[in-house]
Amino acid sequence: MEQGLYGKYRVLKSDTGEEINSFFVLKPDTDPVAIAALQRYAELTPNDQLSEELNCWLETLEMMGAQMPPKCDYCEDIAKVRTTPFLADSGAVMCEYCWNHTRREYKDSHGEDIGKF
Ligand SMILES: [Zn+2]
Repeated sequence: MEQGLYGKYRVLKSDTGEEINSFFVLKPDTDPVAIAALQRYAELTPNDQLSEELNCWLETLEMMGAQMPPKCDYCEDIAKVRTTPFLADSGAVMCEYCWNHTRREYKDSHGEDIGKF
């Protein structure tokens, strides 16, 4: 059963032993969504050394076979994806943005609705 946000871990500062109450633990070796979050963090942090070390760690995880985050085959963005509605593109996956764009175009050109994402 899925759980939402809850206190799964107890985190202590390594230098003082002080307990930290507001945090979020990411496990990129087992969670592809954590990899996406860390890729974004590495892009946005103003700390260049941290950014470089995060990117190095992520590359190592990828080389070691960690499951990478889902990526849309149409726009190549990292996103939630689902199987394409088109038989010709069998095996491809599509993000919600591309799905909605395709849905409008297909409805206009073919008069058929491929349905909601
Ligand atoms: Zn897309």
